[in-house]
Amino acid sequence: MLAKRFDSPGKVSLKEIPTNADGGMTEPVALARFAKQGEELAELQELLFAAGTHALLVVLQGRDTAGKDGTIKGVAGAMNPGGTRVASFKVPTPQEKAHDFLWRIHKEVPGRGETVYFNRSHYEDVLVVRVHNLVPDPVWKARYDQIVAFEKLLTSSNTIVVKFCLHISKAEQEKRLLAREADPSKAWKLNPGDWEERPFWDKYTEAYEDAISKTAAPQAPWYVVPGDHKWFRNVAIAEALIETLRPYKDDWKKALERTGAAQKVAIAQLRNQT
Ligand code: ADP
Repeated sequence: MLAKRFDSPGKVSLKEIPTNADGGMTEPVALARFAKQGEELAELQELLFAAGTHALLVVLQGRDTAGKDGTIKGVAGAMNPGGTRVASFKVPTPQEKAHDFLWRIHKEVPGRGETVYFNRSHYEDVLVVRVHNLVPDPVWKARYDQIVAFEKLLTSSNTIVVKFCLHISKAEQEKRLLAREADPSKAWKLNPGDWEERPFWDKYTEAYEDAISKTAAPQAPWYVVPGDHKWFRNVAIAEALIETLRPYKDDWKKALERTGAAQKVAIAQLRNQT
């Protein structure tokens, strides 16, 4: 497994996970591998869609420039847009703030057959909210258990939950922020807030480590993905998703066969009547 998987509560030390891992691949090798993975991902997503028995929720978290948008373009882009959706979570609106923190999240979770990528998520409520003291400590501290319970509800309702923390170095983030300034086509991504967050780097590290360690569960695992090399990141995420979905493949095919058989009977009956 190219990404580091966490599936039970316990200590997480991000500094022990390299940000620049390449899995022994060069970029061209990774790109070729990702092309193949993309085909398998598309096939698995189509089966999930067609069988209609499960939903897939992919949570993408990471610091500014960590590659959430790039993952959506690359990995989500390999899937059929017909069955896939992206939900992005920004600073909560007054209406969202007037509700519990999961209200806006629950509305966006996938229904059976659907795949939804969360670009940021309910985890912001124990990350940015904690780092900037946006609510009193007891409020955000209570949220870990609330998140675990929420994700249990989802998984017990046939939603497959996979969570990714895109892990980049501080130097790589600076490089990416400066590259954005130099590229007119990236002007829409420029945001002084990204620079303002950099002094809080270590506080975010602590917040991420706690979030991962307190909410990692076998049915809702976290994957920490080395993200300094974008091509490695995509391969690692695709690998984790494929490994997650493959075990369902036979059941989804069987569900499809059952649907096909039942519908053929219905069509035959219809023909007999006319
Ligand atoms: P991007 O996700 O591409 O960085 P923006 O630049 O609009 O998009 O950033 C969204 C901002 O919304 C981030 O700074 C993030 O921390 C913030 N945000 C998301 N959820 C919450 C939340 N629950 N409370 C406060 N801020 C939040």
